[in-house]
Amino acid sequence: MRTIGLIGGMSWESSAEYYRIINQQVRDRLGPLRSAQMLMYSVDFGPVEQAQHAGRWNDAALILEDAARRLQAGGAECVVLCTNTMHLVAPQIEAAVSIPFLHIADATVAAAIEAGTLTVGLLGTAFTMEQDFLKSRLSAQGLTVLIPDADERQAVHRIIYEELCVGVISEASRQEYLRVIDSLAARGAQAIILGCTEISLLIKPEHSDLPLLDTTELHARAAVAFALEGQAV
Ligand code: GLU
Repeated sequence: MRTIGLIGGMSWESSAEYYRIINQQVRDRLGPLRSAQMLMYSVDFGPVEQAQHAGRWNDAALILEDAARRLQAGGAECVVLCTNTMHLVAPQIEAAVSIPFLHIADATVAAAIEAGTLTVGLLGTAFTMEQDFLKSRLSAQGLTVLIPDADERQAVHRIIYEELCVGVISEASRQEYLRVIDSLAARGAQAIILGCTEISLLIKPEHSDLPLLDTTELHARAAVAFALEGQAV
């Protein structure tokens, strides 16, 4: 099997989910004592988060380019960036290495199309909901993407940074997210993209009437597909 390279730490709450899901998938596909070959380079989220909120995206890109190079030098055969938001600098990271970069949006689009849900609501950080880096990649592949209104976006963003990234799971915040999902459904969303890798810690399929496209799960599965593709396992 090929060795997966993960850039984690953004936040580590979701990186732990990637580690768990990837190992579970390999176990399910290959047998009870099988597990994935992977490396994780986990960054300190503090400087990355400060750069995000100050709009210093190039500073954040430098940190992640360095992480990708370290993974490649350590033997990783692909790069999996365990956050939607930092895909804003995906082109720089991709250019820093010669191994494939598995883009989180591509795994998500494939699942949406397979489920026949072409109009989707997108939840994520304000950067992900408001800027174009992820939405344009989704719409270029045939999805119509709806985002929450301004007040709702502010609440969704705040809960990610103040709660989910620091391990706080609150029922009040869950209800707030479900209200946002309801209003996206009323506007025609057929499924909801959990476009931030911590949201599935709060919102599970049993909470929502709409299908959920969980980017953490889908991205982790894409990494396993890459690791096992055409390989003598
Ligand atoms: N993990 C989150 C995401 O998927 C948010 C944290 C970050 O800004 O990287 O967007």
